[in-house]
Amino acid sequence: MSSIRVLPPGLQNQIAAGEVVERPSSVVKELVENSLDAGAGSVQVYLEQGGQALVEVVDDGAGMLPDDMALAVTRHATSKIFSMQDLASVQSFGFRGEALPSIASVSRLRLSSCVQGRDEGSFLEILYGDHLEKGPEAMDPGTKVKVQNLLANIPARLKFLKTKNTEARKCSENFIRLALANLEVDLELYSEGRSLHRFFANENLKERLSRVWPEQLCRDLKDVELDQGDFRVHGVASSPENAQARGERMLFYVNNRAVKDKTLISALKQAYKGRLLSREYPQAVIFLEIPPEEVDVNVHPAKSEVRFRNEKHVFSLVSRAVGKVLDKNYFQVPEMPAEEVDVAGRADSPRYGPGPGETRPEMPVFREDFRHETAPDYGDRPPKKPAPPVHAPDMGLSYLGQVENNYLVFLNSSGRLLVVDQHGAHERVVFEYLKNRQGSVQSRMLAMPMQIELHQAEKNLLEEIWSMLRSLGFVLELHDERLLQVKGLPDILTSGEGIEALRSMLEDKARDMDGILIAMACRTSIKSGSSMTRDEALGLAHKLMQCKEMNFCPHGRPICMDLGGKELERLFKRR
Ligand code: ADP
Ligand code: MG
Repeated sequence: MSSIRVLPPGLQNQIAAGEVVERPSSVVKELVENSLDAGAGSVQVYLEQGGQALVEVVDDGAGMLPDDMALAVTRHATSKIFSMQDLASVQSFGFRGEALPSIASVSRLRLSSCVQGRDEGSFLEILYGDHLEKGPEAMDPGTKVKVQNLLANIPARLKFLKTKNTEARKCSENFIRLALANLEVDLELYSEGRSLHRFFANENLKERLSRVWPEQLCRDLKDVELDQGDFRVHGVASSPENAQARGERMLFYVNNRAVKDKTLISALKQAYKGRLLSREYPQAVIFLEIPPEEVDVNVHPAKSEVRFRNEKHVFSLVSRAVGKVLDKNYFQVPEMPAEEVDVAGRADSPRYGPGPGETRPEMPVFREDFRHETAPDYGDRPPKKPAPPVHAPDMGLSYLGQVENNYLVFLNSSGRLLVVDQHGAHERVVFEYLKNRQGSVQSRMLAMPMQIELHQAEKNLLEEIWSMLRSLGFVLELHDERLLQVKGLPDILTSGEGIEALRSMLEDKARDMDGILIAMACRTSIKSGSSMTRDEALGLAHKLMQCKEMNFCPHGRPICMDLGGKELERLFKRR
């Protein structure tokens, strides 16, 4: 007797259900997608007990004829594709014909449907895969799917469900995910009889987001838009100042299908690189529209994973599209002839600093160099009195002064107030300088070698970055496994700075060149709390304007706060 048998259909469905129906939220996703595929203009979802007791989805879509309803709960029966070619260019959410039979095999399912133009529909009731009853039902055109006691016949899976609240939240997340991509449809979610979310038809993306994301975040969202040939990226992205500590607001859609994809996540992170602290995440909703042959949607039964034909292209497109809108240019050089710019607001305001066409004294890149500089002479004013603004027309800036020896305050040519963090700004300048000069840093040998004691982990880390340190001019020797002897340092660091830089590399676990350069830049930059002369302040602004990235310090903190009328109004509670 043959030992191989074809499994009965009921068991086939239950096995398939293992992948398609993980939890109530999967049912919400599959049923709402079916409603959207049926062209519904309005969809209501009802949950009880986090969806385990009930998920009911009611739509006003095309509906089904009685014979089709029996097929709808048959495995691999679908109205959405008929051939491999159809699959290659599939536009609908569904195409595998697996959701309804899978759900029906692990719940009590009641399917009611009425096609448009008829005044009577029919129903079909199934318990754990067995057909119980069917017959006519008086109802409006559309479809109603009622799923009760999900997974009750599979205790092993039931016990993996979380609390009712957690399951309800997951249902709600899937519901919102679909709502953000189907703006023309009216969608409402109820839980335990209460309306949780209502999205009205024809709202735009930002309107829908404002119902579910914090107000401040939504106010500062930036529009993303990039067209390139057959590819289009659009959506919204948070400004880096609104980053959050969790990564759950990074939502991606490929040809309107909600997907989870590592390439897209890393492309988004790439766009924010250097603009966020290491523990922060961006928030964005990104839609990628690409030719169907560029993406395979049939990777997993839940259809939330995709495979791109050209991952690199997708990566660069998304990171460029987002990166573009994050670049800010606070320091706009004015269009007007310099003579007419009078930012101080008075025609007779005295003019300090270099005039148009003149060059300003450059701020040295390193603090070490400051020490040998004689402070510029500003006449006989006592140093403590607030100095009048210094006008620097070639930069489109007026320098107003320093706040608490930490922040430099400027007014730019559009009349916005710029508050610059001096340490962060200098760190950025030094970091870029070091990066451009990596190969040409000289060593300075120390008269007295210095020692640092190491833990095992620190020693291992040090070994990883040893050759990079040497190429930067650190002359190091390891003694007795645990003792690091520092014999020479890059010539740009004083002994104290060099040792501090090494310590912070070990503390921050710097593993790459950027990490090392950040530690060096941090140590040798102007500290917060140091007073700066006006020319130093303008010199720093000038150097910063030449940096590739001038909005964020190498650690990812913002360098400049820019306050215009709107921001001030908000602070003064006028809005
Ligand atoms: P798929 O969506 O992959 O085709 P499903 O098992 O989800 O598979 O659904 C099977 C079929 O049932 C669909 O192809 C569709 O024809 C029909 N159907 C399901 N839900 C609805 C609905 N809400 N309105 C109209 N037809 C539906
Ligand atoms: Mg489906």
